[in-house]
Amino acid sequence: MKIGIMGGTFDPIHTGHLLAAETVREALGLDEVWFMPAHVPPHKAEAGFSGEERLRMVELAIGSQSAFRTLDIELRRGGVSYTVDTMSELTGKYPDARFHFIIGTDMVNYLPRWNRIGELASLTRFAAVGRGGYELHAEDLAPEVKNKIDYCDMPQLEISSTDIRRRLREGRTIRYLVPDKVHDYLQRSGTHAAYARTTD
Ligand code: NAP
Repeated sequence: MKIGIMGGTFDPIHTGHLLAAETVREALGLDEVWFMPAHVPPHKAEAGFSGEERLRMVELAIGSQSAFRTLDIELRRGGVSYTVDTMSELTGKYPDARFHFIIGTDMVNYLPRWNRIGELASLTRFAAVGRGGYELHAEDLAPEVKNKIDYCDMPQLEISSTDIRRRLREGRTIRYLVPDKVHDYLQRSGTHAAYARTTD
């Protein structure tokens, strides 16, 4: 089995995440893509939405795409979600799977700063899927990491979770930036209004 791991804070999940996962699934011929919300991401402040809310929105976003699944391994583990700990657990649990950890091309330049990156690169390949126009500094990467990256082109979608949270705070529309079911969840649950009162 070739498995894509779409790790993210998903605060909240949006159409750019789904398109990135679908692009890599097709380009690399993956059997499945597992969407994995981080508990506390190593590189940014704690998420605004709770882990439970973020996981629920990911489930709703995935909808009927049968190749997509959710993975709550980092939410259950708690603490800071270092990818190397997660991939070590997953490779132990699924010894026959080949993993491809999906990242935005923006993130490639930061890979050298990831926790135990050499060990991580021995556990998974990376699929860098892109926002265009981003300057890559792949020459800064150690060969054992550089050789593990597959690049996949996708139509550029200027959607970000940060912009969506800003819109929520300002009471502006997020329709079509997120899947309809996520939009309806945010409206129905009142989370939309509650989040709008928080600061980023
Ligand atoms: P996020 O903001 O929720 O986004 C998830 C992924 O989708 C990111 O790779 C992001 O790339 C990409 N993306 C978002 N919007 C996109 C768009 N419109 N077009 C194309 N790609 C888009 O995720 P995150 O909080 O950055 O975390 C990503 C994963 O990396 C998490 O699993 C996190 O735990 C892991 N991570 C691990 C370490 C570590 O182990 N030390 C350090 C950092 C991150 P961009 O990042 O380019 O937006």
